[in-house]
Amino acid sequence: KKNLIIDHEGPFQGQKLDCLFSEQEIQARVKELADQISHDLENAKKPPILVGVLNGSLFFMADLMRAMSIETEMDFIKISSYHHTSSTGTVRLVKDISAQITDRDVLIVEDIVDTGLSINFLRNRMLSNAPHSLRVVTFLYKKEVSQLKKEPEYIGFVIPNRFVVGYGLDLDQKYRTLRDIYAFAPDNKQE
Ligand code: 5GP
Ligand code: MG
Ligand code: MG
Repeated sequence: KKNLIIDHEGPFQGQKLDCLFSEQEIQARVKELADQISHDLENAKKPPILVGVLNGSLFFMADLMRAMSIETEMDFIKISSYHHTSSTGTVRLVKDISAQITDRDVLIVEDIVDTGLSINFLRNRMLSNAPHSLRVVTFLYKKEVSQLKKEPEYIGFVIPNRFVVGYGLDLDQKYRTLRDIYAFAPDNKQE
């Protein structure tokens, strides 16, 4: 698999990142998720609403939606989280959804679940509007770090506790457009 050398100036310049998942592996897994989710939601009365969590889920959301065999609608939410330790922190709402989700089937689409703080916040926020059903799909899941009591219903890949970039995921707003997922060496850049 390919490697990536960080080329922009800063503390990570020159570092070599490992490719964890290639574009082909990503697209194959997205198709599997899309098939499974389409099957589970095929009896929905109205098209399910996919709620993408900005910015990281942009490409995953686009690929997933287009790979699904049922009709869907899309909306977006933007949050920012501050982590003091891995188990505490606060989540701030930056941009809310505009869709009415009451009585609708809702699927939250996340790029990565780390501590689980963001997804807890999002689940509670969506549930307060009484959707007909609520599910979470995350492309990546740091299972060993996560403090979640309720795991995401759909998981692309479980990954170790390493900082990753690519396929929408950034390092200081860079590397989002890479088509593969790359990981920093353990003990390097952590959130
Ligand atoms: P959580 O609230 O689950 O701790 O963190 C979720 C958010 O933190 C993700 O949606 C993502 O924006 C960011 N994050 C967590 N781990 C990583 C990572 O390895 N790489 C990048 N680029 N962002 C991450
Ligand atoms: Mg995210
Ligand atoms: Mg980020």
